[in-house]
Amino acid sequence: MHEQKEEGIPMDLFESFYQGEAPWDIGRPQKEYVLLEQAGEIVGSVLDVGCGTGENALYLAEHGHEVWGIDFIPAAIQKAREKAEQRHLATTFLVLNVLELHTLERTFDTVIDSGLFHSLSDGERPLFVDNLAAVIRRGGTYFMLCFSELTPVPDFNKLKEFMPDLNKLKEFMPDMNKLKDFMPKVTQVEIKELFQDGWHINYIRQATLEARFEPGGLHGWLSSISKE
Ligand code: SAH
Repeated sequence: MHEQKEEGIPMDLFESFYQGEAPWDIGRPQKEYVLLEQAGEIVGSVLDVGCGTGENALYLAEHGHEVWGIDFIPAAIQKAREKAEQRHLATTFLVLNVLELHTLERTFDTVIDSGLFHSLSDGERPLFVDNLAAVIRRGGTYFMLCFSELTPVPDFNKLKEFMPDLNKLKEFMPDMNKLKDFMPKVTQVEIKELFQDGWHINYIRQATLEARFEPGGLHGWLSSISKE
């Protein structure tokens, strides 16, 4: 059991970050996803859940995958569509909540997640897993890159550089202590509990999440989980 209850990152906060350059939006795919693609682990059609401005999705489209990306922030999806057009990449980007994935009414061979799962609240996580089961084919694989209990709390001063409306950030995180509560953390035990029925965990590995405020990247878990 993880000791601390995760409240989830509010949608308003994502909206505010996307008015500027979001701190996680590094302008290139996450290294872990480049390595997975190079290793041949990403197969067939791909759905990117919480795709943001689409760098991971666009990278996989460039490498020949049929790719869809969904995110609940319209500004992020708009940026993703603009990039796809500029790069002449055929992709489908939609505004959608991951708790309503089942409404897509189709399945994919692979689902990728870079920083989405850890932003969901404890209550939302099982619902997300049910939705995931609806959009992934049997034998298909879900890759999840998330913050871990070992991820350090980022420096508030570094983070605030990425927030155009500083008052908004203060609303959510009036001080460093609040930021500590706010930082999502996922344990391997939690991953194993959530995916125990109907899924096979291929691995949970130590991984790095790249971020604009942390040049060396942040500690995380990369999980590969297949639907039985
Ligand atoms: N995958 C992107 C963005 C990571 S940040 C990248 O690697 O750059 C997490 C993303 O998940 C944000 O874009 C946020 O808007 C999206 N998100 C969070 N909760 C969501 C939900 N319930 N439904 C859809 N998108 C969500």
